[in-house]
Amino acid sequence: MNDQALRDRIAKAVDAGFDQQVAFLADLTRIPSLRCQEAPAQDFMAAAMRERGLAVDRWKIEVDDIRHLPGFSPVAVSYEHAFNVVGTHRPRQRKGRSLILNGHIDVVPTGPLDMWAEHPFEPRVRDGWMVGRGAGDMKAGLAANLFALDALSRIGLAPAAEVYLQSVIEEECTGNGALACLARGYRADAAIIPEPMNDQMLSAQLGVMWFQVRVRGRPAHEAVAGSGANAIEACWPLIQALHRLEKQWNAQGHPAFAEHEHPVNFVVSRIQGGDWTSSVPAWCTFDMRIGIFPGMELSEVRAQVESTVAEAARHDPYLAEHPPAIVYHGFQAEAYVLPQGSRAQRALERCHAAVYGEALPQFASTGTTDARFFGLYEDIPSLVYGPQAENIHAFDERVNLESVRRVTQTIALFIADWCGLEDKQ
Ligand SMILES: [Zn+2]
Repeated sequence: MNDQALRDRIAKAVDAGFDQQVAFLADLTRIPSLRCQEAPAQDFMAAAMRERGLAVDRWKIEVDDIRHLPGFSPVAVSYEHAFNVVGTHRPRQRKGRSLILNGHIDVVPTGPLDMWAEHPFEPRVRDGWMVGRGAGDMKAGLAANLFALDALSRIGLAPAAEVYLQSVIEEECTGNGALACLARGYRADAAIIPEPMNDQMLSAQLGVMWFQVRVRGRPAHEAVAGSGANAIEACWPLIQALHRLEKQWNAQGHPAFAEHEHPVNFVVSRIQGGDWTSSVPAWCTFDMRIGIFPGMELSEVRAQVESTVAEAARHDPYLAEHPPAIVYHGFQAEAYVLPQGSRAQRALERCHAAVYGEALPQFASTGTTDARFFGLYEDIPSLVYGPQAENIHAFDERVNLESVRRVTQTIALFIADWCGLEDKQ
């Protein structure tokens, strides 16, 4: 798209709707779309899509529809209220390339409320930032997708190809929401995911695996604690052994993550155990999240985790006889490296440069995103690109509104460039 006057009109149309976009973002952030509680936020998204004349598909994810697919992650929760929403724009006459604009509606838990300066689900604007759980990760991105389309509509234009606006669940734990979109048949010539990328584009992401180690002990009265086997204390050497594996992987490294000193992180993130303060605990369970380099097979990763735990358990007299069990639910996500030089990437670079006046930087993320589904399993160029945010997954999460405005302009220009334009119906 070389028409400077048109670019200016589109950018100005984003500005004209920006107050409304910020209000929409606040309304969306106010809905606490924690895991298994996403349905009201999804209804809100579906209503916004319907208002704009998109054809809305809202459906409940059935595990049986996706469990056989590559990239599936097993779940331990009910999908009774697990709804995806996709709004489809169809052109009168297709002239350009189709596009998926994807975002996830789920947010991670807030942690202790007293660690937040303000309530996480009462979003406020402070010094040009919107504060609230999910404001950055990634409701600002969902709003940007929607308002980029609005900007075109405001000046009487519409994409001249199919655009699928996706609001998916489960990005923070399995990715099964994005996978369910593929299973339902949604495909396009490119995908954009406006995760909070600090005005950069993702060049690579690590894989992520969740697992749970279940340790048993021998209960005893604390007065004769020596006769028991403490399941909680027995976990510590297992955790240390897993951190040695983490160290080993980081020492091996990977060229796509050369900019990171410590790309692979093993995090003991939850622990439960014991029943009574005066009894030697008979059980303990801890959850771990680990990062995985590109090229590592998930089956091989599981084998390494299991042998590490088994080896450490052999040094414990009780665990040697009663080995811990390892179960997998949640992320079983492979790594993804963006193939460089696609037409979609070049288009995004052009549009970003037109808005920011500088080249689009790239960044390798040590976390995962839903890009892997489109990129790895469907060969759809999958561009993760989004606004500046701070404290995501922490307290006082916030997103920079000036950055959101510019990212929205970039996405609007990208739609025009990639899909082409026609007069609005
Ligand atoms: Zn996210």
